[in-house]
Amino acid sequence: MPLELTTAQLAAILEHCRREAPLEACGILAGRDARVSRVHPLTNADRSRTSYLIEPREQLRVMGEIWDRQEELLAIFHSHPASPAYPSSRDVELAFYPDSRYIIVSLRDPGPEIRCFLIREGVITEEPLEIIE
Ligand SMILES: [Zn+2]
Repeated sequence: MPLELTTAQLAAILEHCRREAPLEACGILAGRDARVSRVHPLTNADRSRTSYLIEPREQLRVMGEIWDRQEELLAIFHSHPASPAYPSSRDVELAFYPDSRYIIVSLRDPGPEIRCFLIREGVITEEPLEIIE
């Protein structure tokens, strides 16, 4: 089942990524049955142009909310301000959630480009992404 994002949710993701540029931005998408209900823009604790680490306390809080709402962590998103929308070797190394999708937003010219992947045991598979009204 392709992940479903509304145009408003996509706009919220892009806004967060652009606001944080030239640093990488990150966040979590929560929902049910591949349908996103909430976009959580989070802090990149790395404060880096080439890597991200979701601030651990923020992540814990969001995971608690997801649990309380009986939703799922559907995807982790982050931006690549100046490189293609494809997982870096570090992204693969730090992909700890085999059931989560990984969305990468590239802002490099002529951008933006948004792609979705599964990363399981070091293997990258592209997943469809559906943008709905
Ligand atoms: Zn990355």
